[in-house]
Order: sequence, then structure tokens, then C-alpha cells
Amino acid sequence: MSEYKQPTSEIEFEQNFAQKKPLMNATEAYFESSKCLFCYDAPCIKACPTGIDIPLFIKQINSDNLTGSAKTIYESNWLGNSCGKICPTGELCEGACVFNHQDLPPIQIGRLQSFASTDAIKNEKKLFTLNSQNGRKVAIIGSGGAGIACACELRTMGYEVDIYEAKSKPSGLTLHGIAAYKITNQEVEDEINFLEKQIGLNFICDHPIENKTQLEKLEAEYDAIFLGVGIGATAQIGLPGENKINVIGAVEFIEELRMKHHQLTVPKRVIVIGGGNTAMDAASQSARMGAESVVLAYRRSKEDMGAYGFEYKLAINAGVESLFNAQPLEIVGNDKATGVQFIRTQEVNGRLENIQGSKFIVDADLVIKATGQAKQKHFLELIDGLELDNRKRIVVDASSFQCTNPKYFAGGDAVNGGAEVVNAAFEGKMAAQGIEKWLNK
Ligand code: SF4
Repeated sequence: MSEYKQPTSEIEFEQNFAQKKPLMNATEAYFESSKCLFCYDAPCIKACPTGIDIPLFIKQINSDNLTGSAKTIYESNWLGNSCGKICPTGELCEGACVFNHQDLPPIQIGRLQSFASTDAIKNEKKLFTLNSQNGRKVAIIGSGGAGIACACELRTMGYEVDIYEAKSKPSGLTLHGIAAYKITNQEVEDEINFLEKQIGLNFICDHPIENKTQLEKLEAEYDAIFLGVGIGATAQIGLPGENKINVIGAVEFIEELRMKHHQLTVPKRVIVIGGGNTAMDAASQSARMGAESVVLAYRRSKEDMGAYGFEYKLAINAGVESLFNAQPLEIVGNDKATGVQFIRTQEVNGRLENIQGSKFIVDADLVIKATGQAKQKHFLELIDGLELDNRKRIVVDASSFQCTNPKYFAGGDAVNGGAEVVNAAFEGKMAAQGIEKWLNK
């Protein structure tokens, strides 16, 4: 049972959603950075998708060179501040830190990264130099991690870049789709404003690109187009009753919560269906919003869940109850959902089977579906010669991120099917370098 009360003010919201990786003060950062062994062939660098020189930026913090440290971070990752907070560091750099071999806590790389980059952002330190304009223009569709990284990299190379965004604010999932206890809206906006001021990013918000005429216009006006369109809304799963009132997709729920904070009301009893990281975020946040009972229902066993162990623990520690081997059969109720009917499952010879006669209903006032997102298939099929794989992901060249229609490049979730923001940041940067090589052939 959740111990959180429904927040009624921004202060109460911030208390319920206390940051998991709070900003270090200078003493903490100095102490933590002094512990790094500056390993030769550092495994933490290899575990970072953007390959940040981690021992170098830690050494720079320790020698009071915070500007140099922030520069080292941003040279590899254009979203260095956000990633310090939202990356699953225990699965990446911190998970690879040699301290783990001695059963010691790893260096807190993520928090050190946020410390150095926050100093640069708060003090508006000039970190980047731009090449003179090369007369070429690139359109970016989507302002998530991939789009922003691609835009920043291109700007430093002298390109004019316009970023088309369907929503009213840039940043994609970092602002709209990450649990509020991982990063605040203000922190996301501060990093974007910092980049925008120094790099000159031109965001064209509230401007969805969604039809063939718009695409043809972009093709005529720009030298190349980058697709950072991510994946779409929560997919229909064919569950009877899933269109009832009080049934919502997890992505939509998380976005609403990020935008409304304490002004969103979460009812008493919540069921979250799914076993991935998005399900954990939705469940954990429902509990922090004061829901009395939050049930996380997954059709397979705990071991089969796709979510990281630490995400599951976060949800359980927030008061979420888990219900494994429970296959949803129907969302019950008249117009409004009043619960979910499940049937027990078991694995027989590697196959999941329903156990006859084991149906049961769990009551709920809100059902959140965290069962995957639809791909942007309809939109992507408007682009001539753009190949998609059998999972509707955009096919790209592995090093240049160029699509099968050579004018297009792509990165992020639309290519990798849904990974971390840090993966998107890497792919966007690589695509910018791919564009540069292709246009200079
Ligand atoms: Fe420092 Fe750990 Fe990386 Fe070694 S592995 S360089 S100790 S952060």
C-alpha cells in the first residue's frame, strides 16, 4: 500500500517526487571525484553509449576545472546534463566501474556528470565554437534526444538547422516521458536553453510534419532531412474494454503527469498492465500521486520482466504491489472501467498457458496500459524508398545512419525500437557526421 498522500501543491509534489539523483554540492563532488582510480582502458567509458571520457571529466572536477569537465562531457554527449540524471547508470557506466569487483559502491558518475554540467549551465559558460556557415540547410523532424544531438552537431559544423516539433515545447521524452523523480521540467528546459543560446537552435514548435505535401516541401528546401520521430502513442492491444473511460496508455499518463504535476488527480485504485520500464515508471508515479493501491500486473513471471531490477525496486519501495503470471482478459465495467479480469498463467515447455478455471477480477478506478507503443508506420510510409524492417523500425546504415532514401538520416527510438535517451543522443550525433560526409562526397 502506498504511503504517499495526494499532493495538493507544487511543494508537496516535489516532496513526493524527490529527485533520485539530487545535485551534489562542491564538497560532495570533490570527495566523490577523489575516489576515482582513473583506470587505464576504463571500463566505464566503454559502457557509455556516447563514450564520454569519464575518468578525464572526473579528474577535471577534482582539479577544480569545472569548465573543462563540462566541455569533456558535451564533446561526447549533447545532452550531458539530462543523461547524468536519467541514464540507468547502474546498468551502464556505474555498472562497469571497477569498484563493483571489490563489492564497493561504484563512483557516482551520473551525479558527477550532472554536477559539472549544471555548473556550466547555471553560469552560462561558453563551451562551444561554431564553424562559419557552410551555406547548407538541414531539417530535423522531432526535437527529442536524437534530433537535438543531430542539430547541435550540425550547427558546430556550420549548417543552418530548423527543428520541427509537433508539441509546444522541445525535448521529446526527456520532458514528456521520463518519471518526474528522475529529472525536473526546469532542469530539462535549462539545458535546452543553454544549448539554444550557444548553438543557435531554431525550434519550430507546434508544427507537426505529417503529410506528403509537407515532406516534399522539406525535400525541396533542405539539403538533408533527419528523422528523430521516436515511436508513437500507446498501441491498442485488442483487449476487450480497452476503450473505456479511465483506461489510459502509460506514455500518455506520464506525459500528463509531467505537464500537470499536482493538478492531476489519480484515483484510489490503479492497475498497471505491463512488465517494462515504462510500466514501472507509471506504477511508481501513481503511488507517489497518492493512489491507495497500485497493482502492477504482468502476464509472465518476475524474472521474465523487461524492466531493470532497480526500476522494479523503486516501484515496490513506493508501495506498488506486483501480480505476476496474470494475463488480462478483459477490462470490466460499463462505460467506465471498474476493474480487470485476469486469468492465471504458467509456463509449460517454454510456452505460456492460461490455467483453466483461474479467472479473477481486480477492482480498479484507473487502468494504465504499459504494453508498448505503436510505430510511426503510417507517417514513415509517406517517404519514398524508406525501408522499414519487420518491426517497423527505420533501416539505416550502421555507421552513417543514412536511410535507404539517401536524403534522409534517422536515429533514436524510430531506429532502435525504443532505447535510452543516451542512445538517441549518440545516434543523432553520428547521423550529423553521416550527413556531413554524404554532402561533401
Ligand atoms: Fe573511475 Fe570507476 Fe571509471 Fe575506473 S571504472 S575510471 S574507478 S569511474
